[in-house]
Amino acid sequence: MHNSNENNCLSISEGNHGLNILVVEDNPVNQKLLSLMLDDFGYNLCITENGLEGVKAYQAQHFDLILMDIQMPIMDGFTATAEIRALEKISGRHVPIIAVTAHSLPGYKEKCLQAGMDNYLAKPYHIDELHNIITETLDTLS
Ligand SMILES: [Mg+2]
Repeated sequence: MHNSNENNCLSISEGNHGLNILVVEDNPVNQKLLSLMLDDFGYNLCITENGLEGVKAYQAQHFDLILMDIQMPIMDGFTATAEIRALEKISGRHVPIIAVTAHSLPGYKEKCLQAGMDNYLAKPYHIDELHNIITETLDTLS
């Protein structure tokens, strides 16, 4: 993992899987956990620490999938998703966005889907759940 400013990533790491994943997550412990797990799967990663940085990274390069925290300073996951979906109205693309959040309240998944996200993973989760939801989301949308 190393720092990279030109593509708006807080840190990046390269795997051998060929898929580019953008992580938008403000908590350093969760960032570390996610990057360890995603490194294991061989994905290329770009970690960003809030919604604004996430949207900037999205604009700077191509991603196959985004893992989006909801509660973040500066710009939350709902706003960042809305901005990305608005940009896609112009580009005609659709990047899969998975909400990754501690909120497991009834109806919260629906709220995330209504906000333009494609899937939802509640924290804490097992590494297999993370892997499955990524694979399932990519399969459904491809
Ligand atoms: Mg957060």
